[in-house]
Amino acid sequence: MRRSITTRMVVASGTLALIVAVIFVVLVVAIREQRQSANSAIGSEQAITAGVSLEKLAIDLETGVRGFVASGSPDLLQPYTNSRKQYPQQAAVLEQMVSRDPLARQQVRAILGAINDYVNLYSIPMVSLARETPDVARNVIINNTGRDRIDGIRREFNNLFATERAIATKRTEQAHHRATVAIWSGVVGLLVAVVSIIALALYLRKAVVRPVREVARGAERVAQGDLSARAPEQRHDELGDLGRAFNTMATSLEHSHEEVEARTAELERSNRELDQFAAVTSHDLKEPLQTITVFAGLMNRDYRDQLDESGRTFLDSILASTDRMRTLIRDLLEFSRVGHGDLQSEEVPAEELIERARDNLAGQIVERGATVTIDSLPTVDVDPAQFCQVFQNLLSNALKFSDEEAPQVHVSARPDGDDWRFAVRDNGIGIDPAQAERIFKPFARLGAAKEGTGIGLAICQRIVEHHGGRIWVEAAPGGGSTFYFTIPNTAADTEPTPTPEHVSV
Ligand code: ADP
Repeated sequence: MRRSITTRMVVASGTLALIVAVIFVVLVVAIREQRQSANSAIGSEQAITAGVSLEKLAIDLETGVRGFVASGSPDLLQPYTNSRKQYPQQAAVLEQMVSRDPLARQQVRAILGAINDYVNLYSIPMVSLARETPDVARNVIINNTGRDRIDGIRREFNNLFATERAIATKRTEQAHHRATVAIWSGVVGLLVAVVSIIALALYLRKAVVRPVREVARGAERVAQGDLSARAPEQRHDELGDLGRAFNTMATSLEHSHEEVEARTAELERSNRELDQFAAVTSHDLKEPLQTITVFAGLMNRDYRDQLDESGRTFLDSILASTDRMRTLIRDLLEFSRVGHGDLQSEEVPAEELIERARDNLAGQIVERGATVTIDSLPTVDVDPAQFCQVFQNLLSNALKFSDEEAPQVHVSARPDGDDWRFAVRDNGIGIDPAQAERIFKPFARLGAAKEGTGIGLAICQRIVEHHGGRIWVEAAPGGGSTFYFTIPNTAADTEPTPTPEHVSV
């Protein structure tokens, strides 16, 4: 059954959110109840205070009545007058303050009834009696009827206070209990939340991070060239999809790679066949060409005088063409020979190779009045014969493609990353930058070239690339050309030989 990671994440985070919400609600309820208990404890205290004030007013009533009756002085009636004014208001305050407890309410009702009875049935008639017949009133006072009533009211007040105190004690205990519950709810809730978060993190690690890492490891191996790397794909979720997509991609890459390898092998094979074909053909052409050359030479030597003007022109054409064909076959053979097979590399000072090439071209150098200068050059790890050929072709071109003036050729080298970069600069006719790539193709010759087969630079390119380097030209028409080529700097002794610049004329 497919269980998507999104669904699982939603369920897991929802559960966590629910746990936190429940913890929060429990805490809020506990704190609210604790506050309510504390408030009602305070309410009981306030009810007692209000009760004490009302009790005092009740006592003042009796004190005022007794003073007035005993002395007949209206001044002593003052406490009674004040209390009568104030007690209804204080009674209302007590009614409001008293707990919701039924017993306390009943006790308050009884107290208020008793005070009202005292005022209406005893004190008012007593004050009127004292005003009209003080002696009769004094006799009634002696009976202590009023005091007894007030003592009864005070006892009821004490009962009320006892009830309220009991309620306050109960509420305070409740408040303590609920505070303890709130603290423990917080602690337990915190623990549950921490445990849930840790569980969610572990689950994420197992369900998401680990599989993603496995795919990443597979991708790393593929990037390093191991196309057989695969990711786990058994899961029935998005990571399973990712693993399957990755595996499909890796399989398709593997197939493409195998195809490219097969095609490369095929191309290499057909290139080798072409080279062999060129070599065999050139070699086979040599013999008939040699025969033509020999017979044309004999004709030229023995029968030239017997030919008319156009016969001699034809003969000269045959001689020139056979000469050109011999050069072409030689270059073709050379082209098909270089650029593949094992290299016969050895460490050799580059200067030595140039000297050899320059010696081979000594005739042309003298004939053109050329100057060849060489900077200090490094030791290189190359096939000496092949690299001598590169220098020779480049020097030969620099001499060939010069203006009327004496050619000046300069050879230098400098480090270029992990390579040596050689430069052969001349002051010749230059090259149109648009043709800079074409001239490295076999048989490519530019308009101005009268000599050559157009294979020299193609040979140079093959040799340089076979050594792991590259070759290119930078030139402007009429401004001379500079041919650059690189070779990996693998020789142990790579420092340029600190010799002064050589000049050969
Ligand atoms: P070739 O073997 O006939 O000399 P290359 O392959 O060496 O032919 O050169 C191809 C063409 O590149 C030449 O025909 C010439 O037009 C141009 N070229 C090569 N070297 C130079 C140079 N130093 N200055 C100007 N043109 C050059």
